[in-house]
Amino acid sequence: MQTSTHPYLQHLTEQLGEMTELLTRLVHIESFSADKAGVDAMARAVADELRALGAAVTVYPQTTTGDHVLGVFNPGAGSPIAMILHMDTVHPPGTCATRFKIEDGKLYAPGAFDMKASHVITFYTLRTLQAFGRFPNREVRVLFTSDEEIGSYTSRALIEQTARGASLVMVMEPALSDGRLKSSRRGVGNFNVVARGRAAHAGGGHERGINAIQEMAHQVLAIQALTDYTRGIATTVSEIRAGVARNVIPDRCEIFVDARANTLADAQWLTEQIYALKPVLPGASLEIRGGFDRPPMECNAERLAIFERLRQIAAPILDLSHGPSGAGSDAAFTAPIAPTMDGLGAVGDGLHAVDEHVLLSSLPERAAMNALILESW
Ligand SMILES: [Zn+2]
Repeated sequence: MQTSTHPYLQHLTEQLGEMTELLTRLVHIESFSADKAGVDAMARAVADELRALGAAVTVYPQTTTGDHVLGVFNPGAGSPIAMILHMDTVHPPGTCATRFKIEDGKLYAPGAFDMKASHVITFYTLRTLQAFGRFPNREVRVLFTSDEEIGSYTSRALIEQTARGASLVMVMEPALSDGRLKSSRRGVGNFNVVARGRAAHAGGGHERGINAIQEMAHQVLAIQALTDYTRGIATTVSEIRAGVARNVIPDRCEIFVDARANTLADAQWLTEQIYALKPVLPGASLEIRGGFDRPPMECNAERLAIFERLRQIAAPILDLSHGPSGAGSDAAFTAPIAPTMDGLGAVGDGLHAVDEHVLLSSLPERAAMNALILESW
């Protein structure tokens, strides 16, 4: 389907074999979020690639997650651009051996689409600009984090710091499965509610007991009822824990709530509703914690203007469009700080699934596109 004969795309298409080899190597470094050794191995590989390209590399050691890696080109030069990537995947170690295959122009492997293909695209974006002597005279910050799939708790401050002062933040997450950029992200909230009652014997002490499960049953229904598809609000009571023995009235019940919202206003509203929950049974009490860890990234006028400019820049390579993503990403952290666009990575499908794969022809195409963006923005 490629009709473009742009020199970057021609050059990169000749490198597709090499790009595929690098992607093959990276997916075999399995980097499940909870496996620090695996993510650290990715961090070393990524740092090596950045150094080979001439970046000043800083490794940010972590104790609970893998280390983060920042590469900077042209430090101090004006109109900086930040590229944000993550190294961790949702796939436990041992899954690559059985799932890796290359078939019909697609590479199947855990983490191939989300987002090691983006790593390859990023390295070849930078390499192509260097090969053509067109690396822009601007600071380019390339950040690889280790904990995106588990909420970016250790990387958020670094992500925000990397975005600060940037003229554009390129979040290199995979594109939508048809190649569209991701112009909005749903916000993701995590809440924890504990109901407390009074333990008593289920027979002899029934009238003295306050059943925390009964109390929580009221709250579960109230929380689920906050769901409103027309507004893009979804609440899910996803885990529940209570009870010590068959004949004891439970004095504690705990739930986890996953909350989603499309707009900052709805995220705020939902948070207020959850914190406004009141106990129903006399003598029961509630403890409520949590909030929106990743706020929504809205497709507002600013985002549409950024998209339109990117569309024009990318036009010599491909015909760009954009759409919403139902999941969260680190774009939510950078969007309030600097002009942000998400989904600049590869085209593929099977995100987080057993058939996760990337369309190999999208690697040169997206790298050529990103090279144009870096030099033209
Ligand atoms: Zn991702």
